Amino acid sequence: MDFKWQTVPSKLTIVLSKGKSKWVDTQVVFAMPYDTPVPGYKNNIVNTLRLWSAKAENHFHLKFFNDGDYVQAVMDRNLSENITRVLYPNDNMFLGKELRLKQQYFLVAATLQDIIRRFKSSIYGNREAVRVNFDTFPDKVAIQLNDTHPSIGIPELIRLFVDVEGLTWDQAWDICIKTYAYTNHTLLPEALERWPVSLMQNLLPRHLEIIYEINQKFMNTISDRFPGDFDRMRRMSIVEEADQFGEKRINMAHLCIVASHAINGVAALHSELLKSSTFRDFYEFFPDRFQNKTNGITPRRWLLLSNPSLADLIVEKIGESWITNLDELQKLKEYANDAGFLDSIRRVKSENKQQVAQYLSDEYNVNINPASLFDVHVKRIHEYKRQLLNILHVIALYNRIKENPNIDMVKRTVLYGGKAAPGYHMAKQIIRLITAVAEQVNNDAIVGDRLKVIFLENYRVSMAEKIIPAADLSEQISTAGTEASGTGNMKFMLNGALTIGTLDGANVEMAEEMGDDNIFIFGMNVEEVEALTKRGYSSQEFINKSPMLKQIVDQIEGGMFTPEDPAQLRDLSNMLRHHDRFMVCADFDAFIEAQDKVADTFRDQEKWSRMALYNIASTGKFSTDRTIAEYAREIWGIDQFESSLPAPYENEKSE
Ligand SMILES: *Cc1c(COP(=O)(O)O)cnc(C)c1O
Repeated sequence: MDFKWQTVPSKLTIVLSKGKSKWVDTQVVFAMPYDTPVPGYKNNIVNTLRLWSAKAENHFHLKFFNDGDYVQAVMDRNLSENITRVLYPNDNMFLGKELRLKQQYFLVAATLQDIIRRFKSSIYGNREAVRVNFDTFPDKVAIQLNDTHPSIGIPELIRLFVDVEGLTWDQAWDICIKTYAYTNHTLLPEALERWPVSLMQNLLPRHLEIIYEINQKFMNTISDRFPGDFDRMRRMSIVEEADQFGEKRINMAHLCIVASHAINGVAALHSELLKSSTFRDFYEFFPDRFQNKTNGITPRRWLLLSNPSLADLIVEKIGESWITNLDELQKLKEYANDAGFLDSIRRVKSENKQQVAQYLSDEYNVNINPASLFDVHVKRIHEYKRQLLNILHVIALYNRIKENPNIDMVKRTVLYGGKAAPGYHMAKQIIRLITAVAEQVNNDAIVGDRLKVIFLENYRVSMAEKIIPAADLSEQISTAGTEASGTGNMKFMLNGALTIGTLDGANVEMAEEMGDDNIFIFGMNVEEVEALTKRGYSSQEFINKSPMLKQIVDQIEGGMFTPEDPAQLRDLSNMLRHHDRFMVCADFDAFIEAQDKVADTFRDQEKWSRMALYNIASTGKFSTDRTIAEYAREIWGIDQFESSLPAPYENEKSE
């Protein structure tokens, strides 16, 4: 394959020469491209995803080697190659580490050099142009900032245009806005990237200078529209005021909004919240830039590949067109009262559950009743996703059995899976509680096969493909207003699991599509969460008025599940009592009530299967084909399509 390594300057002092700047004293790192094929489904198209690996410059190595300092030479190779050695494992959490900023810059710099090389060759071929005309750049190139992680690409593109290609600032800025668009993925304040100025000054001084220039001009436009409104300027500034330690930070989301022609959230509710809360001032200033693009999933991986028996059953009834046009699944609704078809859906689910039960007994040495309700909570471990609320329900079921050993209840297998960031203490406390409850419940003879709990190790996409087709119940129980969209919720729906969930993220749109009778919605909505915050939330108040919750918090605090170290989960019980940020206690009673309704419904297998059918048949909106078509038409300005992509989804609620 014909590829060229890219040079990326990295450690820098700057020298100014009449308007243009130049880096000196730089460390050169090579970016080696890895082209990963992305084949389309039966469309004769294979796209390439270009990934990069950092490689040390070879002659550096040799120079030191020849000078006799072999060890130093090898150490320097590591310094360069460490840049792409790890993916930082945090989910929804910003960690201001220098190596991470280097990594972000490296990937962005390599990509932008590659984009500009391709743009030039598309116009000039192999000829060397003295001065390149970049006027058509935004027609040929669209860059979608997937969160703020590649946002250093904004000053990098300006730098390449001004310092290297000789464009004026105004030309460079105009092209920049037309080229970039920004997708926001979270509202959690701890996840927003705010890089310390001191760190950027040290690593990327020219980029910091460009950011200051962007901000200065932006502040002037605010001042023109809102003269004397200094508080507004402070709120909207890309450069934040110094904090209590005298540290100034660069707010990367603000940079993205100012430098992009389109800004979107990833579900309708999330996009509305961006406009009404986090980026309210920006929406007022740039109302036309704000959009919504509800996330989607690919039916090729998440049904055709992962659940072949269900796919076959659907093909038998309505043919294959749903594979590339998921709205076609609506046709299944004709069979809502076809007892034979409902029975087939149930048979397929049962076979998938038997396979998973076999896998669980092999891997975890726990006997699972395949006829039990498979209650599945798989996703990254995070307090806002409330795996804790779910295990409190498991403890409630266990307490019911212990209080009434002969109780007739719907049998449940509760499956958890998900990775925690290594430094996230509370996430690890939650995992410890789950495994401790599992150990006690699974080995209690009184419980028998009425309740089993398993924490699946190393949850990942390949495991999701196995587990989701076997799920009866999908847990989507985040605190309203905290989950931007979720995509796990859509995968379960497509595989005929019913959802117990809050009105959060894309759950809202799922309920709209399938109808409220086919989903178990519970708990506070966003307005109720806001009202409770406003009046002052005290979890203790909710613990005191719920005897069931009080008993459970006391049990955890007293070490009932961790008898060998009774204080092991003290941080967790203290959190519940004193700083329950995600309002687990406030939603507890409603969750128990909703879970009891789930169990009641499960007793009526035909009703359950009909609800599952409505879930499957209502997933059309959540195909990523629809999502990508909307990005193409409404952000990237691509309105000609080769093949039969679906029409953009009409959102009745938007103006
Ligand atoms: C889909 C998926 C996710 C996202 O799940 P959410 O429930 O939307 O958070 C996370 N991890 C894996 C392995 C997935 O397949």
